[in-house]
Amino acid sequence: MAPLRLVIDGHTIDAEPGTSLLQAWVAAGLPLTGNVGCMGQAVCGACRVLVRRTGERLATTGLACETLVEDGMQVAFVNLSRGSRPHSYDLHDLGDSWDAIAQVDDLFPEAKRCRHCSGCDSACPKGIQVEKMVNLAAVGQTYAAAELFDDCVQCNLCVAACPEHIDPAHLGQFVRRMTASMTLRPSDLIMRLHEIEAGSQAIDLDAPGAHPSEPDAGEA
Ligand code: SF4
Ligand code: SF4
Repeated sequence: MAPLRLVIDGHTIDAEPGTSLLQAWVAAGLPLTGNVGCMGQAVCGACRVLVRRTGERLATTGLACETLVEDGMQVAFVNLSRGSRPHSYDLHDLGDSWDAIAQVDDLFPEAKRCRHCSGCDSACPKGIQVEKMVNLAAVGQTYAAAELFDDCVQCNLCVAACPEHIDPAHLGQFVRRMTASMTLRPSDLIMRLHEIEAGSQAIDLDAPGAHPSEPDAGEA
């Protein structure tokens, strides 16, 4: 198949059909020094991009590792790394669910100012109902809010989109942490952590991958 021609961050690239934007960038010999974290696993949110397709008036968001190349695409990486967050908390200070509303109110008072513009929903490349999550969290329905945020990759595009500076990405992370801290942890995990703390966790030195520097027995 003939290669597709597109522009990424000002570089005109000829890419193989079926490759992702990130793969096309690397295949073109361009340096991969930023906007990448998990190397194509679609879990870190670092390779967020704005994409404008042929014939479309508006640009949409996406992740470069899971957006496939198209002829005539114009793509720009979005650098949204945040050095600091305005909200800080210690999970050990969280009480029980009785305090959930007060804690969201204390830490994220701006959540109640959501103006229902849906900017966060439009910006989210994972299709998360961000606005709904914010509004559930604001009224203390933290469990329901946390469930909506399972697929968040912390790309921060919703943060950039919010005119009320609500920081939905951080609020979603907070309600997930709060929910986990208020519910039972898996017993197997707790048992293993206790064993590690006590130094009694058996280590299988013959397990596959225990010696990553050595070649696999199956390798040629
Ligand atoms: S909810 Fe926000 S931070 Fe999470 S994936 Fe969507 S846009 Fe990115
Ligand atoms: S972008 Fe901000 S104000 Fe708009 S719906 Fe989302 S959380 Fe509410």
